[in-house]
Parts: sequence; C-alpha cells; structure tokens
Amino acid sequence: MTDVRVRFAPSPTGFLHVGGLRTALFNWLFARREGGTFILRIEDTDRDRSTDDAIEAIVNGLHWTGLDWDEGPYRQTDRLALYRQKAMELRERGKAYWCVCTPQELEARRKEAQAKGEPIKYDGRCRERGLTAPAEPAALRFRSPQEGQTVVDDLIKGTIAFDHAVLDDLIILRANGYATYNFSVVIDDALMGITHVIRGDDHVNNTPRQVALFKALEYRVPHFAHLPMILGADKSRLSKRHGATSVLAYQDMGYLPEALVNYLVRLGWSHGDQEMFSIQDMVEKFSFDHVQASAAACDPEKLQWLNAEYIKRGEPRRLADVLRPFLEKRGYDPRGPVQPQGGLEAVVPHLRERAKTLVEMAEWTMPYVTEPVAMDEAAAVKFLTTAAAPSLTKFAERLKTVNPFSKETIEPLVQAVLNDEHLKMGAFAQPLRVALTGKTFSPGIYEVMAILGKERTLDRITQALQRIPSS
Ligand code: GLU
Repeated sequence: MTDVRVRFAPSPTGFLHVGGLRTALFNWLFARREGGTFILRIEDTDRDRSTDDAIEAIVNGLHWTGLDWDEGPYRQTDRLALYRQKAMELRERGKAYWCVCTPQELEARRKEAQAKGEPIKYDGRCRERGLTAPAEPAALRFRSPQEGQTVVDDLIKGTIAFDHAVLDDLIILRANGYATYNFSVVIDDALMGITHVIRGDDHVNNTPRQVALFKALEYRVPHFAHLPMILGADKSRLSKRHGATSVLAYQDMGYLPEALVNYLVRLGWSHGDQEMFSIQDMVEKFSFDHVQASAAACDPEKLQWLNAEYIKRGEPRRLADVLRPFLEKRGYDPRGPVQPQGGLEAVVPHLRERAKTLVEMAEWTMPYVTEPVAMDEAAAVKFLTTAAAPSLTKFAERLKTVNPFSKETIEPLVQAVLNDEHLKMGAFAQPLRVALTGKTFSPGIYEVMAILGKERTLDRITQALQRIPSS
C-alpha cells in the first residue's frame, strides 16, 4: 500500500446519482491504480435532509458496481463532538470568533448591501468584538484571510487562483452546535489522512475556503482534482428531464453494472479511442492526465450499445443469475415445475446476441419459463390459421415418435412436412414459432424446441391447434 488515501463523501439526501457514482469510480480507480486506500464517508450532518434510505441506496449502488471500500462507512454524525472541539481550538487561537448576529439581522444587512451594489458577504460586525462566552445563541465564524490569493494546482483544471477579498468569514459551528459542511470536511479530510480530494467541480468554489481552514488548523493541504459536470445530451445540466439519473433506476432498467461503469468512466476520461474497458483495464490505464476539464455530455445510446455488448459477451451462468430477478418480477418461480431444458443458462446463449437490456431479455425468456404460453393475439390471428393447421398437425404426429429429441432428428421431420404440404420453410416456421412462443420473434425454431423439450413442444402445438377453428 502507498500513502494515497482518497474518499467518496456523499451526502445522503437523495438517491445515489450517476454523477455521484462517477465521482466514486474515479476515486476508486485512483486508489486501486496507486495501491492506496479508498474510504467511504457519509456526510449526514444535514439532519433534515439525510435519510437512512439514501445511505442504503449508496451502499447498495457501490456493492452492485463492485466499488469496494477499504475503510468506513464513517458517518459525520458520529463525529460531531470532534468538530466542536476543533472549532473551539480555532477560537482559542484567535482564528475564529463568536458571532451573535441573528438570521433576520443578517438578511436585512444582506439586502441593504445588495441595494447599494456592495458585495454580498458577512460584513464582519462581530469580527473585532472579542465576544468570549455570549449568553445569546452564537455561531462561530472563521476569520478568513482578507488579502492575497489562494492558488490551487488542480490535477484536472490546472492552476486556479482565488482572491481572498471575495472570501466570507464563514460559519464553522452553527448556533445549534452543528459544524458546517466546509468545516467538517476539512477536519475529516485532515484526520483521515486524505491525500487527494477528488470530487465534482460544483465544489470548486469551496476549495479556497477549505484550503484556508487547512492552513489555519496547521494541517497538510491535500491535492485537489475537480471532475467536470455531467450534462444531458442537449448540453444542459443533467436532470430528471433527461431520463433516469439514479443508479438504482439503471439497475431496474436492466443495465449490467460493468456497462454502466464503463459508460461513466468515459464521461470525462479517455484512453485513445478505446471504448470498452474491463475494470482491470481501467485500473491499469486510469490517470488524471486524460480527464478532460470541460463538462461531459450524456449519451444514452452509447450506454445502451455498451450494455448490449456486455450482454453479448456475458457468460451464460452469470447472465442467468442477473436475469433471474427480472423473471421473478414477471412471475417466474425458479423452483417451480416449469423450467427450460438445461436451465436458464441454456436459454440465454440464444437471446444474448440481440438483447439490449436484461428487461428485454427477460421478456423474451418468459415463453420458456411459464405455462401456458402468453399468446400475442394479433400474431395468433395472423399465423394460427386454418391454412397452417394441416402442417402443424402432421408435424406433431411425426414428433411423437422421435427419439432422441434433437435438432438432428427433428430436421428431417420438418423437411418431410414441407415436402408433403408443398410449403416453404418460412410459411411453416412462422406459425410454428407463434404456437411455441406466443410471439413472432424468437431464436431459431430448433433452438426453441430444444429449450422446451419434447413434451412442452407437443403440448404447445396441440394447444395452438385447438385455437384454430376447423374449416
Ligand atoms: N458531501 C459532498 C456532496 O455530496 C461532497 C463533499 C466533498 O467531496 O468534498 O456533494
């Protein structure tokens, strides 16, 4: 292990967002690439907005994608006393001061400043008052540097300079005793030994405030890497309007975690023109040199293409495992009597070539795992006709005696029926397909019969024939 220590520090105030997952991924990749430590820290100090459900969604999302952490999850609400203690230390050293301005007063003065066109920031009223132990509710404010600049060498954005003149004397401890975000982050990053802060660039403006706090506390300042925003396909800020943004929703829509991770790594990072990366590959190739600084636009079609590619290459047993819950949702009982020959593993190789999602694959698998077959009525009307009845009847008759039941033994029977009835393959195969699967679309009919087995094949042809009115 090296001394590289990074953290994913989500606020559990909503579902785990794809942007959050990408931040976690880049932290994880960097940690794994460098042989460092990846820490999960839940920033739950906003008591009104943090929920246990959101924490669970974060943990589940990370488990699902395989982004395992080495330490944590830490919870900031377990560390409140520590933040208070550190805030008081700053006050004792004259780097923070009590402020008794009420929210109403602050608001009134802010409006006044706005009307006069002055900068909107704390006006420093309590800065030099030297209050020691105020009786009224008081917040602790950090005495921010007023002159000079903070220069940050961001690993992605390059050198960024921030003028101290714009920095507020920010509150580090609220009147209710809770530390604020900027303060607790700095204490945690310092005490957890974080060497690289990798996060979304919506936090760039917090960086000079945090650097000032690191310095005032006499902690080593970590490196910073701010990731570009993810935009919708239309280049506006990613939102619900652009479709699903929660990681769980992608799971529900039948995406494989490796496809989502591959997609996310390419949002802002590249390695030549390579599009597909295994996790191993990403870990080997990842570096900040090739993370772009500008925002990255979503491309749902590319995600779907990647998903189809990963499904195509999916190992049958694994695909069967990830497919099973989607089938169960549709009523399949994995321990019930209706099972395809050879199990789900034998079905997926016939479907994985064309399925774009597991939802689609589940839909196509249903005819093999349920009885009776769900018949597409329009297909039945079109193909299960009196004209189709004689060939289906003859075929069923011949099938009864076939043994063993395999493509090699069935093929000559089909040929014989086609010859007897003077039919072309298509004219026979389509009614047969509808009889066997209830659909007009399926793998090759020999594969379908192999999956169903002899008994179910015969049953389905018989049931289909019963639907056809005798002429
Ligand atoms: N908790 C912050 C958020 O979810 C992240 C803080 C950080 O990475 O510094 O946006």
